[in-house]
Amino acid sequence: MTQTFQAVRGMNDLLPDSIHEWEFLEDTLRSWLSSYGYRQIRTPLLEPTGLFTRSIGEVTDIVEKEMYSFTDSLNGEALTLRPEATASSVRAVLEHNLLYPGPQRLWYIGPMFRHERPQKGRYRQFHQCGVEAMGYAGPDIDAELILMTARLWKLLDLPAVELQLNTIGAPEARLRHRARLIAHFEQHLDVLDEDAKRRLHSNPLRILDSKNPAMQALIEAAPQLAEDLDDASRLHFETLQQLLSHAGISFTLNHRLVRGLDYYNATVFEWVTQDLGAQGTICGGGRYDGLIPQLGGKPAPAAGFAMGLERLLALRQARNGVLPPPHPDVYLASNGEGVTAFALEVAERLRDHGSQVVFHAGGGSFKSQLKRADGSGAAVCIIVGEAESQAREVTCKPLRGQGEQETLSLEALLSRIPALTQVK
Ligand code: ATP
Ligand code: MG
Repeated sequence: MTQTFQAVRGMNDLLPDSIHEWEFLEDTLRSWLSSYGYRQIRTPLLEPTGLFTRSIGEVTDIVEKEMYSFTDSLNGEALTLRPEATASSVRAVLEHNLLYPGPQRLWYIGPMFRHERPQKGRYRQFHQCGVEAMGYAGPDIDAELILMTARLWKLLDLPAVELQLNTIGAPEARLRHRARLIAHFEQHLDVLDEDAKRRLHSNPLRILDSKNPAMQALIEAAPQLAEDLDDASRLHFETLQQLLSHAGISFTLNHRLVRGLDYYNATVFEWVTQDLGAQGTICGGGRYDGLIPQLGGKPAPAAGFAMGLERLLALRQARNGVLPPPHPDVYLASNGEGVTAFALEVAERLRDHGSQVVFHAGGGSFKSQLKRADGSGAAVCIIVGEAESQAREVTCKPLRGQGEQETLSLEALLSRIPALTQVK
């Protein structure tokens, strides 16, 4: 028996019947991003494993249990399929010295890989579009990042998404807070679950992220970072809030929002929706002023965000239904002795004039070809038989809307395209 293969669990094929949804989203993203002056960067899907462990942090979900890491058996290199693209972007910016002439507004789009339990809105290969503004200290750029996401939700006509906002302060403030958190949780070891116990001394901030219902009361009672906040972060955060209020962006302050990755500081934010069940975060971001020096660069502040495209699409569809698939303008049917050359010529000439043409390849009766033409959704079927071919004419049969079937010369056809394919 021949062996058959299936896609790796949690990794999806995106099939032609739904690809127009992705193309619509990608087109929207591209023009939205350039309207803010951001430029695209494309980095490899594989990076040295150390890039992620160093930047994301050893004691994080991603590094502890979600990375596709392996040793290249050909040369022994430790490699990882990127779980996110901020670290890759910073690596590339430093490697090519992009910050030398000044700050950079960058964006990326593409697949990310995380070994998670597959479920609705959570896959092992998924897609993110993200933005990285490097060399900007904010809070003006923080405000810009949030304003631009708010504009995207409008462009995509998404239902209400809520902005959650927090500041996690400077590293020193986090250290003070960290000590108080450990002291708090240590008094209640019996309530902590295994994950929390393990993180108690390595990454206690992450315990605040826990969704375990049994720990919620304890988490609610935990000391808040606001009390330890440094003055610079406080001022930065207040200014950001003023800028957002002035722009008419409403937000909820969520002191438990810490984001899962080590490199964040000061502003952190998430856009969340109730309409996608448990996987409700469609966008997350914040400042990462420490990451560039941590990866060996000259210190430079930075901020960014990443959006999960599967979740954006699901949300758009939940609100607006699926987009109608695109149709070709013309289906070209031909049959008879020696007609193929002329039929191909007609198709090429139509494309010269901007039409989208599906040429019926493989022959068959006109009846079966017309059936295909109908199914293609084309506006008209152009028919080339022996008589037409000899006279350099075609028969044009409207498939949708009104309009009479007519036979006309190739030149007349070309002069009346695209009007002929407009459905009345
Ligand atoms: P979550 O809390 O849902 O695990 P996260 O904090 O791990 O999210 P980020 O690393 O901030 O997510 O990634 C940004 C966005 O990418 C998320 O808000 C989400 O929309 C999307 N995303 C993250 N992981 C996945 C996944 N496994 N499948 C699909 N989308 C994902
Ligand atoms: Mg996650």
